[in-house]
Amino acid sequence: MFQGKYYHTVTFGCQMNESDTEVLQGLLEALGFAPAPDKDQADLLILITCAVRQKAEDKVATFLGKLRPWKQEKPGRILAVGGCMSQQEEIAGYIKKKFEHVDIVFGTEALYRFPNLLEEAVDKKETVVDIDLKEGPDREAVSVNRASSFQAWVPVIYGCNNFCSYCIVPYVRGREKSRNYKEVLREVEYLGQKGYREITLLGQNVDAYGKDLPGNCGLADLLEDLERVEGIERIRFLTSHPRDFNLDIIEAVARLEKVCEHVHLPLQAGSNRLLKKMNRGYTRERYLYLIDSIRDRVKGVSITTDLIVGYPGETEEDFNATMEMVEKIRFDAAYTFVYSPRRGTPAAKEGDTVPPEIKKERIQKLVEKQKEIGLEINRQMEGETCKVLVEGDPRLPSEALEVVKNDLFDMHGE
Ligand code: SAM
Ligand code: SF4
Repeated sequence: MFQGKYYHTVTFGCQMNESDTEVLQGLLEALGFAPAPDKDQADLLILITCAVRQKAEDKVATFLGKLRPWKQEKPGRILAVGGCMSQQEEIAGYIKKKFEHVDIVFGTEALYRFPNLLEEAVDKKETVVDIDLKEGPDREAVSVNRASSFQAWVPVIYGCNNFCSYCIVPYVRGREKSRNYKEVLREVEYLGQKGYREITLLGQNVDAYGKDLPGNCGLADLLEDLERVEGIERIRFLTSHPRDFNLDIIEAVARLEKVCEHVHLPLQAGSNRLLKKMNRGYTRERYLYLIDSIRDRVKGVSITTDLIVGYPGETEEDFNATMEMVEKIRFDAAYTFVYSPRRGTPAAKEGDTVPPEIKKERIQKLVEKQKEIGLEINRQMEGETCKVLVEGDPRLPSEALEVVKNDLFDMHGE
């Protein structure tokens, strides 16, 4: 039905969204679609959206507005909006009403039902909406169309049970659900045979992997088994949570040669008062203990983090406690975010109390400090010879440089 038709995807947000896009592309190519290099050559355009901050949602709304002429130019073109933003009932309704040129609105689980939604949209005049969080069809049966031929995302656990007070993810991604252990192993073995060198295990809370599976297998066991997979040279995992991160994982990182000496452990805030309000489930003392344990066992480890400034009620003292942790721990890098109220979360009920100019001042201070520390750490490596995985041509075309610049801009949440 779709032979000779072209698709194009635009992805916003995190690695899980990138991984979802690869799944979607696999589904589309199985239907006969071929990839188009840009939207102008596409018959089907799909946006995979992010809802973590308001800015991400605003970007999508602006983009959608600009797509009216794209749709009018060629009747029969199909425009679909998926991902975390569409998963919210209110937003799905808003997109349907405000952007009448959108044909399909689908949520995070409906991704796997996309071929059916597409057929429905071809026959129907009205926008097709599917934001049911019910699972399926079988995720394992989907053939993934990977963007890289040597690095691969491997989702191992979906959803999140943590309900940090500010975060929308548990509402749009559902509860934690680990993938079958053997299926993960099989996928990585296949990747090894296909020439992939690096894999990154993905989960909103990757350390919780296995908790909901029968038996007693966790992330540390999985890393141990993956170490033996031929062809794979590097194993990474993202994102850890201090509540579930444990000594077994630290031991695995220390002992296993292929597991990269890198831990991404979001701290979010430095004061116990804010950590409690955020429902993070640890204290600054517990966090420092984890950092000491990691550094004790894993020589040369890099530790990165996520930090939020401007959480409702954040005082100068709270902010100073965050700065103090940054100076004490000396992270290799940090993703720094300005707090953004998310509808339906407990924090949003407290209002957005920190004035924008204070937020700006704080984020700038934090970014400056972290840049300084990151540079000092990097300088210590001057003159060293390291094994690297070349990810691209350093002579980037200017278009690609624009993308890189945009990413950096986003990272600092300015
Ligand atoms: N599960 C991962 C975690 O806990 O770190 C990643 C979740 S989220 C996609 C990535 C980061 O976005 C979080 O670590 C947090 O720092 C930030 N974030 C989440 N909600 C936010 C909000 N409402 N405002 C600002 N930053 C937020
Ligand atoms: Fe959001 Fe917290 Fe879950 Fe991370 S652990 S996805 S910040 S609720």
